[in-house]
Amino acid sequence: MSQTATCITEPRTERSAHPGPALLAAFREKDRFLLTAHARPDGDAIGSLLGLWMLLKEMGKHAEMQLFDRVPMIYRTLPGSEHIRHANGLSGSYDAIVLLECDGVERSRIQGLSGNFLINIDHHTSGRDFADLNWIDVNASAVAEMIHRFALAAGLPITPPIATCLYTGLLSDTGSFCYERTRAETFALAKDLVEQGASPARIAQDVYFSNPASKMRLLGTALTTLQREGRIAWLWVTHTDMMRAGAVEEDCEGIVNYAIGISGVEVAVFLRELPDHRVRLSLRSKGKMHVAEVASRFGGGGHDNASGCTLEGPLYSAMDRILQELRRHLAVNVSSGSAG
Ligand code: 5GP
Repeated sequence: MSQTATCITEPRTERSAHPGPALLAAFREKDRFLLTAHARPDGDAIGSLLGLWMLLKEMGKHAEMQLFDRVPMIYRTLPGSEHIRHANGLSGSYDAIVLLECDGVERSRIQGLSGNFLINIDHHTSGRDFADLNWIDVNASAVAEMIHRFALAAGLPITPPIATCLYTGLLSDTGSFCYERTRAETFALAKDLVEQGASPARIAQDVYFSNPASKMRLLGTALTTLQREGRIAWLWVTHTDMMRAGAVEEDCEGIVNYAIGISGVEVAVFLRELPDHRVRLSLRSKGKMHVAEVASRFGGGGHDNASGCTLEGPLYSAMDRILQELRRHLAVNVSSGSAG
C-alpha cells in the first residue's frame, strides 16, 4: 500500500447530501482504489461504479472495478463495463476499497475485504456505518446522484461517458422516475446529465428494450402464479421454471413490478426458488408501506419502496412467512382507510 497523509483511526460517518472533507481528502490522498458494489448488481450499482471509476481516472488514480456477479446483459453496453472484473476474492493490494450501495461488506459477497481501508457510499434506508469512512444519504434517489455531487465537490468534469453511466443509475434506482424519492432535483440532475452527453433514448433502448427472450418466457410463467389478497399481491418461480425458461438471475429483475402495478395493491412480493432451495424475495410497495423494515426482519434490507431478502425454503413455507409478516405489518402500520 502507498503511504498517504490521511490517518483515520476511528470510523467516520457523514450523513449529508454532500461529501464531507474526510471523504474528499481520502479520494485526493490515496492512490490505489478498488471499487465494488453489491452482488446481483442493478443499474445504480453498475452506473455508479463506472461513473466513479472514470472520475478517479480523471484524478489520475489507479482504479479497478470488481463485482461478485457478471454485469447483467442490459448494462454491458455502458462505457467501461468491459473493465469490470467478475471474481469472488480479492487479488491485489489497494489503499482503499470503495463499496457502493452496500450495507455491509457481505453485500458485495467478495471475500477478503475486511482489514482494508473501506469507504462506504450508500443511500439505502438500511445503510450502516460499517466502513472506515461512511457517506450515507438516505434522501438521495440513487448513489449515482451522490457520485455526481462528489464530482462537483472535487471539481471533476462530467464527460459524456460519465453522464451516460450516472443517468443509467438514476433511471434504474428511481424506477424510471416513479419512486417516492423522485423530486424536482432528480429531474434537474437528469437534465444536467443529458446536457453533458447522456442519451435518454439510447439508454432506454439498452435498459428496457434489449431483453433476452428467456426473460419474457420467465415472466409468462411468473404471471400464471399471480395471487392477490386485498392490498397484497405475490407471484413466484421455482428453480425448475428458471431452467425451463433458460433464465438466469438477472432475468428476474422487474417481475415484481407486474404485481405492484395492480390497482389497490400496496405491497407486492416476487419469490424465486434458488438451486439450494432457499428463496430470494423482491418486495415493492407504494404509499405508506415501508418494505425495507419488512426485509430487515429477515436479514435483508433496501429502500422504503423496494427491498429484498433471502429466506430458508421450501418455497411455500417462505411464502407463508412473508405473507404473515406483510399482513401483520399492514394491520399495524397502514391505516385501513387506504385499502384498495
Ligand atoms: P431487488 O428486489 O431489486 O433485488 O432489490 C431491491 C432493493 O433492495 C435494492 O436496492 C437492493 O439493493 C436491496 N436489497 C435486495 N436484497 C437485499 C438484501 O438481501 N440485503 C440488503 N441489505 N438489501 C437488499
